[in-house]
Amino acid sequence: MSGAAGRVGLVLVSHSRVLAEATEALARQMTGEAVAIACAAGAGDGGTELGTDATAIAAAIERVCGPAGAVVLMDIGGAILSAETALELIDPAIAARTRLTGGPIVEGAVAAAVRAAAGGTLDQVAAEARQALVPKAEQLGEAERPAAAVAATDAAAAVAVAATDAAAAVAAVELAIADPGGLHARPAARLITRAVAFDAAITLENVTAARGPVPASSLIALASLGARRGDVLRLRATGRQAVEAVDALAALLQRDAPAAAPAAPPASCHAIPVAPGVALGPMVRLVRSMPEVPETTVDDPAAEAERLRRALVLAAQDLGSALRGTDILDAHQALLCDPALVDEAIARIERERCNAAWAFRQAIHAAAAIYRRLDDPYLRAREADVHDVGDAVMRALLGGAAAVLPDGPPAVVVAEDLTPSEAARLDTRRVLGVIDRRGGPTSHAAILLRSAGIPAVAGAAALVPDAGGARAGLDGATGEVWLDPDPETTIEIERRQAALRASRRPPGARDGRLRLACGREVELWANVAGPSDARAAREAGALGIGLLRTEMLFLDRVDEPGEDEQAELLAEIFAAFAGAPIVVRTLDAGGDKALPYLELDAETNPSLGVRGVRLSLARPALLEAQLRAILVAGRGHDIRVLVPMVSTAAEVSAVRAALERAHATLAATGAAHRWPVATGIMVEVPSAALMAERLARQADFFSIGTNDLTQHTLAAERGHPRLHALADPAHPAVLRLVRGVVEAGHAAKRPVSVCGEAAGDPGVAPLLVGLGITRLSMCASAFDAVEDALAGASFADLAAVAEEALAVDDAAAARAARAAARRPG
Ligand code: PEP
Ligand code: MG
Repeated sequence: MSGAAGRVGLVLVSHSRVLAEATEALARQMTGEAVAIACAAGAGDGGTELGTDATAIAAAIERVCGPAGAVVLMDIGGAILSAETALELIDPAIAARTRLTGGPIVEGAVAAAVRAAAGGTLDQVAAEARQALVPKAEQLGEAERPAAAVAATDAAAAVAVAATDAAAAVAAVELAIADPGGLHARPAARLITRAVAFDAAITLENVTAARGPVPASSLIALASLGARRGDVLRLRATGRQAVEAVDALAALLQRDAPAAAPAAPPASCHAIPVAPGVALGPMVRLVRSMPEVPETTVDDPAAEAERLRRALVLAAQDLGSALRGTDILDAHQALLCDPALVDEAIARIERERCNAAWAFRQAIHAAAAIYRRLDDPYLRAREADVHDVGDAVMRALLGGAAAVLPDGPPAVVVAEDLTPSEAARLDTRRVLGVIDRRGGPTSHAAILLRSAGIPAVAGAAALVPDAGGARAGLDGATGEVWLDPDPETTIEIERRQAALRASRRPPGARDGRLRLACGREVELWANVAGPSDARAAREAGALGIGLLRTEMLFLDRVDEPGEDEQAELLAEIFAAFAGAPIVVRTLDAGGDKALPYLELDAETNPSLGVRGVRLSLARPALLEAQLRAILVAGRGHDIRVLVPMVSTAAEVSAVRAALERAHATLAATGAAHRWPVATGIMVEVPSAALMAERLARQADFFSIGTNDLTQHTLAAERGHPRLHALADPAHPAVLRLVRGVVEAGHAAKRPVSVCGEAAGDPGVAPLLVGLGITRLSMCASAFDAVEDALAGASFADLAAVAEEALAVDDAAAARAARAAARRPG
């Protein structure tokens, strides 16, 4: 789905087609393709005559009106009547999401497009269009109200600033505008688009002219500052990412002021960071040549069904050769025999006599739509896998080759929703980096790019046009993208590449332990989800596997994996960490991880439902089969068993009893296996954290799952797009629970580790270490960042900052305490 689809769309209604198209071009100068804009203008053949047409307006609204709605701007007289008639012609649900606004068509379109690109709501975008003449009137002395009143048009943002001011982290900077044009529309639009990426409320004030502050989310509000060359602007942010926001936006503003800040970083646009690393080089497109699918019927459905079956075998071979050795191949192979695809396609061939390609493509579209509607972002990202499998089958049926790179020197590859097999086929000698115009960080393609060490960003459709551009640079850690960078920018990108080369630990340089300045050791363990993950983590120097998420091995399975099959897969992972400690978590299914073969009951609130250990105990046969597989595969390895989502002591004793039974069964049949095994618990439910002292009698070790612990402590669903700031593990409430678990663990001599994302977050890991955690388990790619965050600090320093963080009001302030401790002076 394009980024534009989630934003408010615009319809430009004009008597003149030329005027509407020129207005669209002007708006697109600010926002690129980020916003869907449609022109409904002119009358007669080709719209060359002056006039408006209600049917054309209705069609335009239907084109651009997604879930976020659409705003319609009109020029004069009859345009309004036609637009009103159009609303009567369209689906009432769409009409309800459509606003006709009296704003001026040119200024209104530009202001509304910028607001929409920055994620503004329907009402905010409509208000922006309506108010679009205010800055002009003010500049010409015709305004009826003071500039500050404009700020109030964005009431929600203004209130948010006031409400968080006392508690949240605050950062501010003052800088002079050196651009001869002042803070004019383009830099202001860039600022708004960039500001929206931060979890912070951001305002700007013209100190020189005593105007503002106004929210940095409205083009009109920014224009009302009347910021001219030489004026001093105060940029201020509050919220979790206040510091980062001020740093980035100040750099952006100063880019337009080279004289004031010669060393400022170059201009860039931000996509989604996917795989760390910096790349620079010629830009090439990954070319797909998918054959056209004929929509024809066949006379002999049985023969056509057979043709499809043969194509499935060929597709399996094709994908097998591309994905061999990756954890993703199994999922693809499972899709190729998934009844929801195969039976569905064959039914279409038999019922409707569709040809095989047409039938299979329809089945693929239906399956993709199911994934697209899922709430969980990880599962939603599996849609790309479905298309990948579909493409392979189409190639087998209709001919055509997998996407190819044109010949030439190593390059930055631009892709359109890169599929896993395309990612796996990329030749690392020829690919400097990848810019995916769509995609996201949790797709299988992203996972493959990360393990191949290819720097990558995703979701860049608005930044990288369909065609054009000769060179590109990207920073996969920050998401920055530069198109045709100028010489100054090129120097900066090359500087980053050199710094990265210099800082990268050579293979074998890490032994899984880092030493603080005082000599205290902190252990780096890895979170692992499959064999190739495990191999990469071992190479990266992880001390052990701190969390093996076994449910990830079977996420895409439609049938239950057998005990032997489980043991085989686990043995492959254990082999990668031979001689090192390995913590294997029992199935943590349910909640946001619905394994299809488990056929779970629908629950009103799955995060609080039958998940983790609750589900395992409800299905004893499933649990014991898994435990036996773990014990058999664990023979000769230092494995430990970890129980997820524990909320009571009785659950731990029940799992211990199941383990005993698994051991007894294996012993009775003479099957060699690991015994005894240490059994620990995930502390990810507040009750477990609060009862850690009692649970220590049952558990051999504690592993704190900050992801769930944060969700349950703050009653903020993890991954909820609007609760991101609240669901922050740096919140003092979570830190206090961590402290309690550490104290209970130390008193009972039970090791305590953290294996939630917080362990790999350079903004939180130092706080955890300061609270007494000495074992951090994270994705191995986070090792460098965490090492850097802890470099040079002593335990006493970190403990002091952690103490401070425990005593503040919220996560933003806790992060700010840590950030302030890092800053020199
Ligand atoms: C956690 O909740 O922090 C955790 C590590 O478990 P998962 O993310 O797999 O739920
Ligand atoms: Mg969890």
